[in-house]
Amino acid sequence: MNTQEVMQQFEKYVISNYARLPRVIVRAQGATMWDADGREYLDFFPGWAVSGIGHCHPRVVEAIRRQAGELIHIDNTFYSLPQGQLAQLLSERAFGGKVFFCNSGAEAVEAALKLARKATPEGKYKIISMLGGFHGRTFGAITATAQPKYHQGFAPMLPGFKYVRYNDLDEVRAAIDDETAAVLLEPIQGEGGVKVADDAYLKGLRQLCDERGVLLILDEVQTGLGRTGTWFGYQHSGVVPDIMTMAKALGGGVSIGAIMAKPEIAAALVPGTHASTFGGNPLACAAGVAVIEAIEQENLLENAEVMSDRIMAHLEQMGQRHSCVEEIRGRGLMMGVELNRPGQGIVDACLERGLRVNCTQSVVLRMTPPMTVSAEQVDKAMAILDEAVAAVMAS
Ligand SMILES: *Cc1c(COP(=O)(O)O)cnc(C)c1O
Repeated sequence: MNTQEVMQQFEKYVISNYARLPRVIVRAQGATMWDADGREYLDFFPGWAVSGIGHCHPRVVEAIRRQAGELIHIDNTFYSLPQGQLAQLLSERAFGGKVFFCNSGAEAVEAALKLARKATPEGKYKIISMLGGFHGRTFGAITATAQPKYHQGFAPMLPGFKYVRYNDLDEVRAAIDDETAAVLLEPIQGEGGVKVADDAYLKGLRQLCDERGVLLILDEVQTGLGRTGTWFGYQHSGVVPDIMTMAKALGGGVSIGAIMAKPEIAAALVPGTHASTFGGNPLACAAGVAVIEAIEQENLLENAEVMSDRIMAHLEQMGQRHSCVEEIRGRGLMMGVELNRPGQGIVDACLERGLRVNCTQSVVLRMTPPMTVSAEQVDKAMAILDEAVAAVMAS
């Protein structure tokens, strides 16, 4: 089938809830993908940050093949090997918490919200979340997502949520009352425009939560698993959350989500309180184990830092050449370029030239290249981006 035929098939049979680019992707490897017409692209937003170690990483492919021949799914009536192994690997690379597995970022957020209510004393139920944040599309997650566009047409939201400005400790202090169970935020707001939480703000939040008996939940769905150059985003500040969510890059492309909670908090989820049929299935967990092994054995945290510096240097230069660049932000391989104009034209111009980037909040170009990206790929991508910006500015 050619691109036109596939688009017609979607038109007729697939619900049109996505604004898709007119390309059919048929194959991808590392930071490169190919479409049905044989065109090649550098993918600097692979899988919306899911393919953190690149598309079809050989270790992940091999782990999936091996596991598929042994046991794809077994329900949580039983124990299974990959689930325990992945939980241990995650715990040892974070804060020694215990893990519950689910299947997506939104589900991880739901689990975190339920655990926060369950683990705090009776009467505490309120959640404070941040304006401009993003936590997924289920009802709890959209309620936590303090952006009106995600609520429109779906009212009423879940009761008990309060929104405050990101990076503003005084607003959180004023919003906490005796019924507050938790504060929820991303260490870096991704969809919200690549906004980094100040270390001092996170330290202040930790202290405030401790003083007021409130749990601190960090949504690491996008920042987790090496994206920012450390295993988890919180590790830059040293501020340890009570509960942390993960998903996106965790499965190397296979859908998986998880929360980690300090053991004394995790203890609130006794049998019958929460569950997921697919959660922790051997296939997804084997993929997750392969992701962690790849990051460690191929020194990808280090490569992420080196490539981050390289991209930032390119972007700074680009910012000096083009007056449309307002600000360059990010940490590790999660970067945003804020423009003084809409960015979709640049995204399209990049795609035409063989580079895929994303635009969020209308004016922020967003890039999350894989941790396996090479210096040559970075240089090529930045040359394309520069050319695309110049072309759009000249038009
Ligand atoms: C993508 C994202 C989610 C939602 O994940 P899904 O897998 O799409 O449900 C939640 N939180 C953050 C921070 C995200 O970036």
